[in-house]
Amino acid sequence: MKVAKFGGSSLADASQIMKVVNIVKADPARRIVVVSAPGKRFSGDIKVTDLLIALAKAVIAGKGYESELAAVVDRYATIQQELGLDGSVVAEIEKDLRDRIQGRSEHEAQFRDAMKAAGEDNCAKLVARVFTGQGLPAVYVDPREAGMLLSEDFGNAQVLPESYARLASLKHRQETLIFPGFFGYTRQGQVATFPRGGSDITGSILAAAVGAEVYENFTDVDSVFAVDPRILPDARPIPVLTYQEMRELAYAGFGVFHDEAIIPVVQAKIPICIKNTNRPEAPGTLIVPQRKYQQGEVVGVASAAGFSTIYLSKYMMNREVGFGRRLLQILEQEQLSFEHVPSGIDSMSVILRRTSLTPKKEEKVLNRIRDELQPDDVTVEHGLVLIMIVGEGMRYAVGLAARATAALAERGVNIEMMNQGSSEISIVFGVKEMDHKTAVEALGRALLAR
Ligand code: ASP
Repeated sequence: MKVAKFGGSSLADASQIMKVVNIVKADPARRIVVVSAPGKRFSGDIKVTDLLIALAKAVIAGKGYESELAAVVDRYATIQQELGLDGSVVAEIEKDLRDRIQGRSEHEAQFRDAMKAAGEDNCAKLVARVFTGQGLPAVYVDPREAGMLLSEDFGNAQVLPESYARLASLKHRQETLIFPGFFGYTRQGQVATFPRGGSDITGSILAAAVGAEVYENFTDVDSVFAVDPRILPDARPIPVLTYQEMRELAYAGFGVFHDEAIIPVVQAKIPICIKNTNRPEAPGTLIVPQRKYQQGEVVGVASAAGFSTIYLSKYMMNREVGFGRRLLQILEQEQLSFEHVPSGIDSMSVILRRTSLTPKKEEKVLNRIRDELQPDDVTVEHGLVLIMIVGEGMRYAVGLAARATAALAERGVNIEMMNQGSSEISIVFGVKEMDHKTAVEALGRALLAR
């Protein structure tokens, strides 16, 4: 059996939902269908999840919230009308939203999660009706009854291990199952959501739980591309990737698939197939445990902006036992996670995400470093872009770094940081924001076979 997950753009309006029906009809193995909340219909449109967040905010603020509520209801009403469904569908959705507001928890994050989850929950109920109406008997599955148990980290929940055994029984159900993505329940019975984009995680958990032959992830692109096509319009599609390649590409901004979502399917060794709802006949990208590769072959160039560097230098740092530990301990105590730690004999840099390093945090961390480590110099620089070149074929490949640095030099890009070796299948470069596009383009053209 296959688990097929459909993202928000695949459910944004009636014509998209009909594509989903046809895709599921076309393959009887697609027995579990995971749905997101309706997403954007056009650029500039607002996702239902964001409308729900605005609604939760208005309720929490204690002001009127009717217009925010109407905005959510309207999105479903448009779908209902376009599909010619009974109006009671919309009345039920409105009641559900009002019930959630009425039964509101005092705990803000918990309440926000209960509201956010309404997007997927109502979408799944609606989709189950549409399927049945189209002659494909389908049932909505309530994540609470099915046993999708999550931790109490509202907005950032993790699946609890016991969920897998409970969810496994879904494989014995005969009907097509429509499962809402993005949320589950805590042991106390409260709604909790995964991080944003978390329907991918739901699909992955279900695929692992039922031992699916493949986890199909339907989105709005034909495949994963070797370079962001907005930077390199003739970037080629990637037919096959390994889990590790996908993980590294996703880390540096390949937004096609939620990086956390990989974990359950990787552990169960289930292949993932990324496909396009608008062009289901396109082969898509298959992500597998292992693949054949050629020596020196680079599969993708990914990039992500928004990093900051804390740079420290101290003469004879290399002889000072415990220097690195003390530096990292300061970050730990300040609740900062770091991304990379390139170091030299008398210097060390720590690369962090810009969003985690607020101005207040920055000041505190710098003061502590000065007091506790007494470096000769400590500075912070913002606006770093990380670019990763990734490929299984990079293991033991000779000369790749040279080709990459030559390509950057040719375009006049200064390399702020380079990290090779911690991962055998990637090299990371740090460049300034103004060089972002030039660097990615240069690396893409120089390293990717066409
Ligand atoms: N609807 C949620 C979001 O927009 C989850 C998802 O689509 O995967 O983040």
